[in-house]
Amino acid sequence: MKQKSKLTDVEIRTILRAADEIIGKAGRTLLVKILKGSKEQKIRELGLDQCPCYGAFREQTKEEILLKVDWMIQHDFLEIQVNGKLPMLVFTEKGWRIERDQMVDELLEEWNRWLEQGVRPASMEYLKDRNRGMILLFLQKIKESNDSRYVPFLRAWQAIEYRKVRQAIQDVIECLEEGTGSSLSTAAERKAELAQALQAKQLEPEYLKCWECGERFSFDVDEQKFYKLRGFVPPKRCPACRERKWLREMGIDDD
Ligand SMILES: [Zn+2]
Repeated sequence: MKQKSKLTDVEIRTILRAADEIIGKAGRTLLVKILKGSKEQKIRELGLDQCPCYGAFREQTKEEILLKVDWMIQHDFLEIQVNGKLPMLVFTEKGWRIERDQMVDELLEEWNRWLEQGVRPASMEYLKDRNRGMILLFLQKIKESNDSRYVPFLRAWQAIEYRKVRQAIQDVIECLEEGTGSSLSTAAERKAELAQALQAKQLEPEYLKCWECGERFSFDVDEQKFYKLRGFVPPKRCPACRERKWLREMGIDDD
């Protein structure tokens, strides 16, 4: 089959949004089914038909959709990771940056809808345990809006959050009440404070012990950030053992 030419920005965002539903949990086949709008029971059971991008590529064949998913992998928006025996999709740093941004916009649009309709959500629990980087960006955008109508939502959210996020929410509430949210210098200062509050423990290079060979290996700051961003736990094996494990799983002999 002919190689798919460049995807549009909308296609890229659509695929990333659909992938978000199954990231780290499933592979390409399930992603194709979401985009195709598959009627399979499994899709309904997992609630994947509720995804805003469910059926977004309904008009295309599964083969065409798969080519687009593969294009995303080839162009470093998504990656396949072999976990045990199952290949799973994960975001690359580039892909996650885009997806995080559009998830934040989605969250903000929802708040705006509630404001327009004059409703209050029954619970803010849905915001708990979300990716920390995304939540920070969400708070940042709320603050920059300088719109104090968000304060009641923030208070309800604050009530159910963990301490560190609670503190970050408090900063935003104070900003909105003072009406200083959009002031540029303040925004920049607050952003730095916010980052500090949430990074109470500064990242330093770590030396981890490999579970397999027992050797120490360095887990440097960039790697730590990368793992954190994707929500991964730190590696258990040193790079050499990781590669051997991967070769074993791929059924390739190593000597
Ligand atoms: Zn090792």
